[in-house]
Amino acid sequence: MTDVINPATGTVLASVPSLGLAETDAAIERAQQAFGSWRQVAPGDRARLLRRFATAVDDHLAELAELEVRNAGHTIGNARWEAGNVRDVLNYYAGAPERMSGRQIPVVGIIVPWNFPMPIAGWGFAPALAAGNTVVLKPAELTPLTAIRLGELALEAGIPEGVFTVVPGAGSVVGQRFVTHPAVRKVCFTGSTGVGKAIMAGCADQVKRVTLELGGKSANIVFADADLEKAAAAAPASVFDNAGQDCCARSRLLVQDSVYDRFLALLEPAVKAFRVEDPALATAEMGPLISAAHRTSVASYVGDAEVAFAGEAPNGDGWWFPPTVLLARSTGDRHWREEVFGPVLSVLPFRDEAEAIALANDTEYGLSGSIWTRDLGQALRVSRGVETGALSVNSHSSVRYWTPFGGMKQSGLGRELGPDALHSFTDVKNVFISTDS
Ligand code: NDP
Repeated sequence: MTDVINPATGTVLASVPSLGLAETDAAIERAQQAFGSWRQVAPGDRARLLRRFATAVDDHLAELAELEVRNAGHTIGNARWEAGNVRDVLNYYAGAPERMSGRQIPVVGIIVPWNFPMPIAGWGFAPALAAGNTVVLKPAELTPLTAIRLGELALEAGIPEGVFTVVPGAGSVVGQRFVTHPAVRKVCFTGSTGVGKAIMAGCADQVKRVTLELGGKSANIVFADADLEKAAAAAPASVFDNAGQDCCARSRLLVQDSVYDRFLALLEPAVKAFRVEDPALATAEMGPLISAAHRTSVASYVGDAEVAFAGEAPNGDGWWFPPTVLLARSTGDRHWREEVFGPVLSVLPFRDEAEAIALANDTEYGLSGSIWTRDLGQALRVSRGVETGALSVNSHSSVRYWTPFGGMKQSGLGRELGPDALHSFTDVKNVFISTDS
């Protein structure tokens, strides 16, 4: 059994079985058997079952959101959006079965991290099920509760036994078995770049298909001609949302040197006003970090760095950390280069467009980013120049379920969401039929 902790209080919330190798193999074998009948379900019926699953999620939206607040420390506003996102993604892919021709990959193994337990699970299982695959899903050990509940809701909605199985347990046991078990023909992984590389190498052994969604160190580029008030008001949430535990966090802020001082003066009150409090409160903008170990890791980046200013966080129990803005002394600073995965923003000035693009690209990652300018030509040139999978101009959105999401360089491989995701759950088979009599 594994104790599941509420990160806002440090207290044990539940105990969840940590399944071993034999139980993982049994789940995979059940999924393999279920594939035979699931692929035969008529497209219209498969679509109907997915819509019923979406309705079940919608009917339990408040329960799922409250569970996530307690398990992951997400603000209630975010958690409601996340449960709604699972419903929306299921409904979106429920439109797919009738429009696809019969090409499936039998069993798909999905490995989910702790930072967005519900949406990332849904981005994997919804298109996989729609494409006719069966699914085994491993939630992160820290945040298994909503995934387990989604598994129950799938059964209640009529998804047949074995088609979608949640297998809680350790990454090195359950997740690793998804990589090595020959019946799992595709692995979807979201998490750290290090583990992602090991999974890709492991999948090579069986030439197993893999989708990777890994880390990020995204740039928020603010040009002198931008609406600075708006850009400064939006910058805190772009990096502190979900306590910075977001692969799309705009954790590097690049500000054109001619407006650098003015922009920091606008940013400071916005950071100090960012509300860090009990995530169950409707007013909360940020909750705690996920664990004590993670808080130690985040704090190590602040260490002897130059702090420009910081917000407030509760002092009591739980893994709290204040929103913190650091001045980068050079692009070699550890907090500038590495994914902190916490509420820490690094700031650096730039001279001109060319330097902004060069600095934004000076990273092994390429997941997301933002450009703030009123000059449309500049917005398009910089969008072309920055090597990243999702960019927003004069806003900070990265995810809409109807458009593709994924990274360039070491941020990942393949695309989730949108029409593209379905292709990664299907194989092309070319059958020649002789018409000789
Ligand atoms: P990991 O990459 O270790 O974990 C992500 C998932 O992979 C979890 O379900 C984990 O299981 C599983 N896993 C771990 N090891 C293996 C393995 N050998 N084979 C198969 N599955 C495995 O991330 P961490 O939780 O350790 O976070 C560390 C850092 O990674 C963060 O600080 C952040 O920088 C980055 N990260 C990035 C994310 C993103 O969205 N891109 C998401 C999460 C983390 P288990 O729960 O048992 O550990």
